[in-house]
Amino acid sequence: MNELESQLHYPLGDDLPPAGRCITVAPGVKWVRMALPFALNHINLWLLRDELDGRQGWSIVDCCIHKDEAKAQWEDIFAHALDGLPVLRVIVTHMHPDHIGLAHWLCQRWNVDLWISALDYQVAKFGTMGPTAFGGERAADFFALHGLNAPDTVAQIRARTNYFPSLVPSVPDHYHRLLDGQTLRIGDHSWRCISGYGHAPEHIALYCEDLNVLLGGDMMLPRISTNVSVYEQEPEANSLALFLDSIDKFKPLPADTLVLPAHGKPFTGLHTRIQQLHDHHRDRLAEVLQACSAAPCSAADILPVLFKRPMDLHQTTFAIGESIAHLHALWFDGKLQRTLDTDGVLRFSASR
Ligand SMILES: [Zn+2]
Repeated sequence: MNELESQLHYPLGDDLPPAGRCITVAPGVKWVRMALPFALNHINLWLLRDELDGRQGWSIVDCCIHKDEAKAQWEDIFAHALDGLPVLRVIVTHMHPDHIGLAHWLCQRWNVDLWISALDYQVAKFGTMGPTAFGGERAADFFALHGLNAPDTVAQIRARTNYFPSLVPSVPDHYHRLLDGQTLRIGDHSWRCISGYGHAPEHIALYCEDLNVLLGGDMMLPRISTNVSVYEQEPEANSLALFLDSIDKFKPLPADTLVLPAHGKPFTGLHTRIQQLHDHHRDRLAEVLQACSAAPCSAADILPVLFKRPMDLHQTTFAIGESIAHLHALWFDGKLQRTLDTDGVLRFSASR
């Protein structure tokens, strides 16, 4: 446990749900944990006791990626954790593959509908439409513009055209729209949608006042800081500013709110965590500003400033998006200016 993490409280201690089983974390709220084949090796999924159109059952919150192993893990859960009741709906916090990958399969498997924000539904749908919707050619050009232009790196990114559809081959043909401030009745309780930006197009966290529980998705993680990136589809996004504004929307929630994050363990200490994330990004922004004051920097030049560990290509493509997000926050703030150099690379320097 790192020092910042030790300032949070984990009411369930080191307990983790065993494979194919779950742990009840609040009345009618069960925690499922599934393996992921990435550096981030697991995701937390949630079962909420529900009643829909007079039928008793469960709502699922988030789905895991499209992989046979994940389907098998779900079948195990269905057999052992639902008290013999059906799944009544599938709720997805945002469109990243570990959250929406199996939504189409779950909805078909139970003949139920998907609940998600409109923006994340549309972007996920777009991502499934063809191998070059995300990544590939345009991502390679975008990263090269930001200094990731070694020929073998560009070639590898260009060749990576199937990343999203391989994990999310399809999404359901229709959905129920989740909107900020909307209240969703799930079983005996009301859950309020809280939108968040900067990590996904329109992430929805859910807060239940009766239970004092926040389903934080990826917006409120206890150990790692949420990935905040700029992508080729919206090349001049100010994602970090959006993210920092969004986490402040959790500030009015009670200090003892039980946060159920998509990765890591359930925790309390929401306000401490919000402050930690602000401090973290403030320090990173100061380092980026310092580097750009010493010499003009591309996002690729900023990678070793923000990330002190060796990274493979997959991690580098996430990291470069984070570097751009930090540069953009300072650029939109007027602290940096931008030049397109004759080598075709954007570099940022301290504003005069
Ligand atoms: Zn995510």
